[in-house]
Amino acid sequence: MVYSQVDLDEDIDYMFKVVMIGDSGVGKSQLLNRFAKNEFNMNSKSTIGVEFLTKTVLMDHKVVKAQIWDTAGQERYQAITTAYYRGATGALLAYDITQRPSFDHVGKWLEELQIHADKNIIIMLVGNKSDLSSIREVPTEVAKDFAQKEGLFFIETSALDSNNVESAFFGLLSQIYANVSTKHI
Ligand code: GDP
Repeated sequence: MVYSQVDLDEDIDYMFKVVMIGDSGVGKSQLLNRFAKNEFNMNSKSTIGVEFLTKTVLMDHKVVKAQIWDTAGQERYQAITTAYYRGATGALLAYDITQRPSFDHVGKWLEELQIHADKNIIIMLVGNKSDLSSIREVPTEVAKDFAQKEGLFFIETSALDSNNVESAFFGLLSQIYANVSTKHI
């Protein structure tokens, strides 16, 4: 599999919708900013809220456009609507490795997906803020075991120092691609 970013938006072979989910404050927006724009906004308190960002990448010589949706902070005040999940082929489910409750709520987010999302949705569990591992509350092994039990892909990231951010998104996109391309070719 060859990954590289392409600038042209023309001749897209695949368009994948991906949704960011997880508790407020875990770093969903910053992960997306880092991946789509290579930015980290030091002063953001919590999600400012774009609806989605796109990034076009090359996979196996195919042009794949990822449309990645952010909750825009909806989860703080209200339930996320079914429309948010509609058509999504992948979900990036984030928690904060320094906040145990955000990991304990992962099961609740999986239930949300079960209710609202396509049953074949591919899920990448992401333990964010790995730069703060000195105050970690969620051991890597605990999350890894949980992911394995639930059939999720798993990675730890830092949106702050860029660690594994590309791998998290590309890992998810390549699994979606593998699924879709075997169905259609
Ligand atoms: P969201 O509510 O899940 O979208 O979270 P945000 O992306 O708005 O981030 C919440 C807070 O965590 C902000 O203060 C970010 O600056 C901070 N943050 C996000 N990612 C990281 C990270 O990888 N490391 C550290 N140290 N802080 C982060």
